[in-house]
Amino acid sequence: MKIVIAGGGNGGILAAHRLADLAEVTLIEAGVDPGDPVPHRFLHEHAFPDADWDYTDLDSGHHLVRGKVLGGGSSVNAAAGSRGQPSGFEAWGEGWQWNDLLPGLRAIETDEQFGEQPYHGDAGPIRVTRLSQSPLDEAFAAASRRNGHPDCADHNAPGTQGVGPWPTNRVDEGRWGALAAVMPLVRPRVTLRDRTFVRRVLMEGSAAGTRRAVGVEVDGPGGVETIAADLVIIAGGAYGTPELLWRSGFDLPGIGQGLQDHPWLMMNVLARDEADVFARPVSGSLLRAGVADDPADEFQVFPFSTWLYDRSAPRASYSVSVALMQPDARGSITRIADGPDADRGRIRLGHLATDSDAERMALAVRKTADVIDAMADEGIVTVPADAWWKTADLIPRLREKVETYNHPVGSCGIDRVVDRRLNVFGTEGLKIIDASVYPRIHDAGPNLVTMAVGWLGAGLVIDDERL
Ligand SMILES: Cc1cc2nc3c(=O)[nH]c(=O)nc-3n(C[C@H](O)[C@H](O)[C@H](O)COP(=O)(O)OP(=O)(O)OC[C@H]3O[C@@H](n4cnc5c(N)ncnc54)[C@H](O)[C@@H]3O)c2cc1C
Repeated sequence: MKIVIAGGGNGGILAAHRLADLAEVTLIEAGVDPGDPVPHRFLHEHAFPDADWDYTDLDSGHHLVRGKVLGGGSSVNAAAGSRGQPSGFEAWGEGWQWNDLLPGLRAIETDEQFGEQPYHGDAGPIRVTRLSQSPLDEAFAAASRRNGHPDCADHNAPGTQGVGPWPTNRVDEGRWGALAAVMPLVRPRVTLRDRTFVRRVLMEGSAAGTRRAVGVEVDGPGGVETIAADLVIIAGGAYGTPELLWRSGFDLPGIGQGLQDHPWLMMNVLARDEADVFARPVSGSLLRAGVADDPADEFQVFPFSTWLYDRSAPRASYSVSVALMQPDARGSITRIADGPDADRGRIRLGHLATDSDAERMALAVRKTADVIDAMADEGIVTVPADAWWKTADLIPRLREKVETYNHPVGSCGIDRVVDRRLNVFGTEGLKIIDASVYPRIHDAGPNLVTMAVGWLGAGLVIDDERL
């Protein structure tokens, strides 16, 4: 059987990994393949204008980073490796509960500290570890404890909360994502086409009946050509997948409509001693707690070096960032119908668009401010006198300050665009396997969970196609 996977990111590569010995797999990526061994910058650096899709959030005007490179998001991301709470998957419905995803979460990882636990993996390609704690990480954890938050040694153990080392797939060798960790296993077993843009999925059959995917039309180094397939898997990510569906002639009303992202804010302070701030892209420490009484309604706080991302900031600048992990608001990605950008998406992330989200974010910011104040009481940080979160009228300030946590999901969600086996409605031989299928955002970054979706999605292919 010939399978074409359109998009070489987290979902696409993990699906390729599981399917490669069972079918003839062609993995197609619009961006460049940086090669093996992976060059330094894709392991250690974090801004790649030459490997980016150049999207913008029309609500805020902010640029939205999206990796246009083999490995997708996992080649450019902060490599925070959280899984979230089992309860975060309840809204995903039948076939997509924690217990359904757990085999995938375990299969993809080797947890370097807790691998022997039944809910962890110890033989998967993605190394998940916990970094050393900087003096400021330790001060942040101590301030959190003084505010009543418990210690949490393993944020990826089901049902935990509190403050402790952040699980990450950034190891000494660098970002250990789909590119560095999984592609070496996939390369010898698939046909890889990089710098090759999938223009459209080729469909056969009448618009009135079920249509069948028979291949893709691509534009690559050799020009425009078609590649035949018995099954096409779309894995272009939360923004790329809706665009590919539009270019392929789909006009299902759900396309782009379920988009969600975690709203995220920075609360900037100054460290007493710049040597206490470790300039590394993923923080050592993470706090997870309930916004109010319901522990499942979480916010996340992590501190990091502002200077790392903004070299005009002082070395001692320290951002305590806070995210609302169960937002209700949905954004959208809608189709630009004509003109030079025809079939690209117009993105609105919809951060804090509901009053409930704004009010819960305000509670999360106040709880975070308490932790910052406890650090300031110890003389570890200085809070600016005009800190924006000290205003009495907080909600308008939140709406000005909010940014993306870079976690867009759900733009082609289960029950909106695909069925529970990830088949695009009204089609045969066409599945979507990436973060766009999330029925609802869950309470962690989508890095590891999308890899697990790749694993699980490949399992559906194996069952459906009797591979
Ligand atoms: C800057 C940044 C930081 C992040 N930090 C974290 C973090 O610390 N922790 C966390 O959990 N998550 C993080 N994420 C999110 C996480 O990386 C993504 O959610 C995840 O990569 C999504 O996987 P995906 O397979 O859905 O899409 P992607 O990984 O984006 O993969 C899609 C791939 O398809 C390719 N593609 C798209 N359209 C086409 C086409 N037409 N033809 C061919 N190829 C195409 C793209 O180039 C891309 O390689 C971050 C993301 C970014 C951008």
